[in-house]
Amino acid sequence: MNLEEITFEILENHSLCDYCLGRQFSNLATGTTNLKRGQTIKSFLAMKFTSLDSKNNVAALQVLSQSGSDLARKFLEKKAILPKETSECYICENLLLKIESLTEVIQKEIKDLEVRTFLIGTILPKEYLEREKELKEKYQVHQSEYLKQEFNRNIGKKLTEKTHLNTDFQTPEIVIETHPISLNVHLKISSLFIYGKYNKYVRTIPQTRWPCRKCKGKGCKECDHTGKRYDVSVEELIEHEALRVTKGEKGVLHGAGREDIDARMLGSGRPFVLEIINPKARSIDLAELEKCTNLHVREQIEVRNYRFSTKNEVIYLKRSAEESIKKYRALIEFDSPITNKDLEKIESQFCEIIIKQRTPKRVSHRRADKVRSKKVYSVQSKIENKREVESIIVCDGGCYVKELISGDEGRTSPSIADVVGTKAHCKELDVLEIEEKTYSKEK
Ligand SMILES: [Zn+2]
Repeated sequence: MNLEEITFEILENHSLCDYCLGRQFSNLATGTTNLKRGQTIKSFLAMKFTSLDSKNNVAALQVLSQSGSDLARKFLEKKAILPKETSECYICENLLLKIESLTEVIQKEIKDLEVRTFLIGTILPKEYLEREKELKEKYQVHQSEYLKQEFNRNIGKKLTEKTHLNTDFQTPEIVIETHPISLNVHLKISSLFIYGKYNKYVRTIPQTRWPCRKCKGKGCKECDHTGKRYDVSVEELIEHEALRVTKGEKGVLHGAGREDIDARMLGSGRPFVLEIINPKARSIDLAELEKCTNLHVREQIEVRNYRFSTKNEVIYLKRSAEESIKKYRALIEFDSPITNKDLEKIESQFCEIIIKQRTPKRVSHRRADKVRSKKVYSVQSKIENKREVESIIVCDGGCYVKELISGDEGRTSPSIADVVGTKAHCKELDVLEIEEKTYSKEK
């Protein structure tokens, strides 16, 4: 069968709108749209049947009129024949005619959002897709596009025409889910990612939000109805100004590792990516944000090196934290007096050595119990007073330094306490430096 015969047979059995008819032949002629293909095929057939000598031709024009051909209808009217009413499209039930209205709904919904790129997704009940499949099999037509794609592409095109927004298939700033039947749209705003480094100068705040263990954040007597175990965290201090300028809903701090609450983070700082959930503004001045953040957080923490980041960098940051080398300063208190000879022993023992650490008791309630191998590169110490020593420790990321000092009742071996033969505990801990590997987008 040729194009004319197939088309006519389809239209005799099923009325199709221009979009849906055109889509059945989307392999024919490039550089046009399914809408135009459908219109062209219908017009061509209408012209062909306009020599009204036979009854067959009137019937054929009525079929075309029923599927919405203006040309066929006008011709019948001119010959004083009442054209048949246009029937609903068999595949899309005329939903494709709602593209204009759907685009208007989208425009209204996004008018207060600052976005540059989008991606459209369309939700349709499966009956629609089944009817389309049925036609494809019955008439052996070449549909290279499906109904959902027709919606996505046409709405996307309209939206680009009416706004300054562009489609982005990889990392759209907003995903717009359209529901043609109810004429509703659902927006999913992509997070905004900001890279930076932070210092922490106090020994009282955790890196991220710490909900009250009793009420799990709901608020109870124990936490004075705050829902929090600690008043504030690095995460909350950093997000405060960022949420103000992006009008975001919430911030999530993804750190390259974390220090203990009572450990300071000094040196050039710990890399992090702040994820802003549901931001309404994106083109913000990061230098200004950095300045405002440092004013807001006062002496507690400090941020620097702000730049825009991506979700992929978060994954990279988490992975690289384990592999990077860290330098600590620890103030160690021993149970008995320490001599310079002890310090020499520590230094020679902990030189390029692999230690075994079983998950420490203090974190075993939230971390899997396993034995990790970590490298200690060097421990250099000086006596502060009889039982107190300051040590500079260089070791692998993820090494538990407090346990390297105390031995954690044999869970970490060897330990500084083992080597000296007396109990030892970490009185103060500071992270002095985190060796950073440069992130490249190609990875
Ligand atoms: Zn249709």
